[in-house]
Amino acid sequence: MVDFGLSEEQREIRAWVRTFVEREIMPLENDVLRRERGGAAPGLNADEVRGLRELARKSDFWGVQTPVEYGGMGLDAVTAALIEAELGRTFLTFKFGGEADNILFHADEEQQKRYLLPTISGERRSCFAITEPGAGSDAKAIRARAVKDGSEWVINGEKTFITGGCEADFALVFAVTDPDLGADGGVTCFLADRESGWTSQPIDTMGERRPASLVFDGVRVPEANVLGEVGRGFELAMQWIGKGRYLLPARALGGCERMLQMSIDYAQTRRTFGAAIAERQAIQWMIADSETEIEALRLLVLHAAWQVDQGRDSRHAQSIAKLFGGVKANEIVDRMMQIHGGMGYTRELPIERWYRDLRLLRIFEGTDEIQRRTIARDLLKGRVTVGETLR
Ligand SMILES: Cc1cc2nc3c(=O)[nH]c(=O)nc-3n(C[C@H](O)[C@H](O)[C@H](O)COP(=O)(O)OP(=O)(O)OC[C@H]3O[C@@H](n4cnc5c(N)ncnc54)[C@H](O)[C@@H]3O)c2cc1C
Repeated sequence: MVDFGLSEEQREIRAWVRTFVEREIMPLENDVLRRERGGAAPGLNADEVRGLRELARKSDFWGVQTPVEYGGMGLDAVTAALIEAELGRTFLTFKFGGEADNILFHADEEQQKRYLLPTISGERRSCFAITEPGAGSDAKAIRARAVKDGSEWVINGEKTFITGGCEADFALVFAVTDPDLGADGGVTCFLADRESGWTSQPIDTMGERRPASLVFDGVRVPEANVLGEVGRGFELAMQWIGKGRYLLPARALGGCERMLQMSIDYAQTRRTFGAAIAERQAIQWMIADSETEIEALRLLVLHAAWQVDQGRDSRHAQSIAKLFGGVKANEIVDRMMQIHGGMGYTRELPIERWYRDLRLLRIFEGTDEIQRRTIARDLLKGRVTVGETLR
């Protein structure tokens, strides 16, 4: 049986988030655009994020996917995707509070007190650091090295493009502990406090994000700060990357929906040669193609999320959703800019900002090419059979 309906609870949650975004976040958009045009740091500032999170918390909206026993809502992946799509309707990046990196739940009791619980409560911020100047897509090629010295590990190496790296209080940093084994048993994840001495430098990008490069120069962490087991860090890294891949295209979906509606409204009021541009087939086709792709993306995202909820191996479906979402969202934003003509290209409207931000979706957490590689390999190695994804 295929059921495309949402549960009562899912509809209510989606409606609540839509109202929250429309009432609390969208009214900040023009201010942020004005600030950005004036050269301020992009996006919502820390006070605005804190205020919005506290406001949501008063309605018990806190820890979307954090298990209930940790004070979260413990929501399923499909509902999380619906929430993400609603948040995507604003170009301002906002996440509800009460979340922690999925792999932090592997922390032992002592680590939970020092890292997991303060991250969930918002007192401490983490960053996930695997990418290096010489190792991005090929994450197995990391060179950062950790060597045991008594009861401590000494970490040396450089990480790059680390989201939240300048703001983080501690890093989940991946380093080689056994060069002979490499990623197959020789990479370990460490919880490294900023006080342990690593440094960060912001990296300017074309979008809202300001990731950081991190330098570990003889940074010492106690052996109690190994997350999980020594040598099993690469599996943790893959768990971190793989868990929420469907959430990235989910967010893009919301942005595409909003831009399509903006474009429909604009096309009906903008007149050229004595008629609304909406009357022209060229414009209608851009609207129709975008709507078709948005609906296809919705199904791919929800299917990937559903597979997660079913406890199935969702990697193939997540790669397809991420690839399609990245490629199509970039085509759609380009069309929406085209429909808006010169206005679309200005910084008065958010379309150019989406245009810059959405480009990242084709690069981070697995580039288009890496998703294609995964999808093709699944088929070529027989892990997935053509036409059997609904089994
Ligand atoms: C804004 C931003 C935030 C990020 N946040 C984080 C973070 O928080 N933590 C973290 O660890 N990393 C983070 N990253 C890093 C990100 O995951 C990498 O940039 C990404 O995986 C690509 O790696 P790369 O940049 O080294 O490109 P490369 O791996 O050098 O790839 C360059 C080009 O070659 C292509 N390519 C590579 N291998 C193949 C292949 N086998 N076949 C065909 N084509 C191939 C790629 O698709 C790409 O087009 C972030 C990056 C950005 C830009």
